[in-house]
Amino acid sequence: MASNSYDLLFKFISVGDSGVGKSCILLRFTNREYIPTETTIGIEFGSQVVTVEDRKLKLQIWDTAGQESFRSISRAYYRGAIGCLLVYDMTRRDSFNHLLTWLEDVRQHGNEDIITMLVANKSDLASKRVVSRAEGEAFAKKHNLLYIETSAKSGENVEEAFLELAQEIYSALNLSQDLTQIPEADLRRLEQHGVKIGPKRTLNINPNAPSSTSSPQCEC
Ligand code: GDP
Ligand code: MG
Repeated sequence: MASNSYDLLFKFISVGDSGVGKSCILLRFTNREYIPTETTIGIEFGSQVVTVEDRKLKLQIWDTAGQESFRSISRAYYRGAIGCLLVYDMTRRDSFNHLLTWLEDVRQHGNEDIITMLVANKSDLASKRVVSRAEGEAFAKKHNLLYIETSAKSGENVEEAFLELAQEIYSALNLSQDLTQIPEADLRRLEQHGVKIGPKRTLNINPNAPSSTSSPQCEC
């Protein structure tokens, strides 16, 4: 499939402590395999297309490094994202305890429309689990997040995590409408917030309109 054949593109970020499985989740989703990874340095990204209501949604995921020294780089990517995977390791309580710091970071530096999925990873290690489902769900409820338990190792719920987040964004932003009817100003705002209409839509935008070389005004 051509990489540009999609109706909508959503930018996601993935955040959380180092070692919780962010890179493995991303690789499981994009390559459908489990690859024990090297530590992420800076930012990496991958993409995959999912289908929601017959629309092809290309998810472009920016995988950030958890180390403090890279946080300032990572923050630069928050603003242009519409979806966030906030990941912790259910076998490591410290990664759960740090969730609030991550969430505050995302809310402070991200755009106000960002929708976050709390991801409790490593569900294959049931005997080592220290953070219960009830605790995870309570945190998610309190902070208005979606919640899912995954295993990058077994693959359990990995695709579902991305798909459910995409579905939530799709309905929250009312994107089931006719995409050719979205006014230009709204398109620009969507784009600044991590949602791009695919190339098919671009062909339908005012074919006779003169192309402008002036830079668009920021509407934020
Ligand atoms: P990141 O720093 O958040 O990107 O974490 P990584 O994806 O690099 O994973 C950190 C370590 O956890 C690696 O040794 C992975 O092999 C391991 N890991 C990641 N996901 C899982 C999982 O679902 N189950 C198990 N058992 N190990 C995992
Ligand atoms: Mg990583």
